[in-house]
Amino acid sequence: MTIDYKLLTPGPLTTTEAVKREMLVDHCTWDDDYKRITREIRAGLLDLAQVSSDGYTTVLMQGSGTFGVEALLTSVLSDDDRLLVCTNGAYGLRIVQIAQRHKLDVVTYDEDFANPLSPDVVDNMLAADPSITVLAVVHCETTTGLLNDIEALGAVAKKHGVRFIVDAMSSFGGIEIDMQACNIDYLVSSANKCIQGVPGFSFAIMRRELMEASKGLARTVSLDLYDQWQAMEADGKWRYTSPTHVVLAFAQAMRELVAEGGIAAREARYTNSQRLLVKRMKNMGFAPYIEEKLHSPIITTFLYPEIEGKAFDFQSMYDFLKAGGYVIYPGKLTEVDTFRVGNIGEVYQEDIEKLCDLFEEFLKGNS
Ligand SMILES: *Cc1c(COP(=O)(O)O)cnc(C)c1O
Repeated sequence: MTIDYKLLTPGPLTTTEAVKREMLVDHCTWDDDYKRITREIRAGLLDLAQVSSDGYTTVLMQGSGTFGVEALLTSVLSDDDRLLVCTNGAYGLRIVQIAQRHKLDVVTYDEDFANPLSPDVVDNMLAADPSITVLAVVHCETTTGLLNDIEALGAVAKKHGVRFIVDAMSSFGGIEIDMQACNIDYLVSSANKCIQGVPGFSFAIMRRELMEASKGLARTVSLDLYDQWQAMEADGKWRYTSPTHVVLAFAQAMRELVAEGGIAAREARYTNSQRLLVKRMKNMGFAPYIEEKLHSPIITTFLYPEIEGKAFDFQSMYDFLKAGGYVIYPGKLTEVDTFRVGNIGEVYQEDIEKLCDLFEEFLKGNS
């Protein structure tokens, strides 16, 4: 089997051969070797969040990132909590959907998708409604590629004494996040984004005292973070069948992140790729959807180009790029036609150059 294209999508993404090779082993789950791998992963995640096991802890959960968000919301909020969810993209809206489905007490601050979340608006909302106890935001809104200012939002949460949840799904491991400095109480991410593993589990990192305080709050059995944490704290065991191949691949991906030079080095690689992408795309007439100063180094949304006398056809461009070795991502906006290009995973400057050469060729063929 040959893989003939790279994924320029924000997860699943293109992983290394070594990460894929780890999955050729059928590992048992009950022995000490496997439990040790889980323990090492958990310790490594705290290092990446720049926190220690004194004040913070982490728990892994089967399922994709959304399962992790749902596990968190249904495991740490009590009936006395009121949640403020800030949205400026599809992933913020998904947090609201989860909260509503579980009949949690939720209010929202809905920002335009092209704008960052405003710490001042949040400040005013928290001041106006002291019954709000928890604030939830998305760090990198993968819908647009916009990066929200979690440091400023965390400072507002702290000022009002509310707990702070961050969906850092598409940023953790690729952008430096100091959990303590950003005042983050709970952070959720998953295996198949910037740590560059394969899909199959998510994880939450949170303040240890809040994990302890969540005992008995869970609204489901399979997504009960506290129970899962208790099992993992005891000896590294997962409750229920764990995605063994994914876990082995993730352990390798974490070793590769360290070998690359840690998050700072990876962030620099991503940033260089993203800037090169925007520069070349703009030269060809593709306009980014959001202001450049709001861009994350993860994924970029572009408007459909104006091609004189012709309707732009995304599908034929997609097929052309795929035949040339790269798969891009359709847009996720309703009011404007866009497409997205991710640059996380095993993607380097030379890939961005090749991709842009292909875009150029495609445009030439269409003019
Ligand atoms: C990928 C992602 C998720 C989770 O999506 P899944 O498809 O369930 O993995 C949640 N939030 C953000 C910001 C994401 O990028």
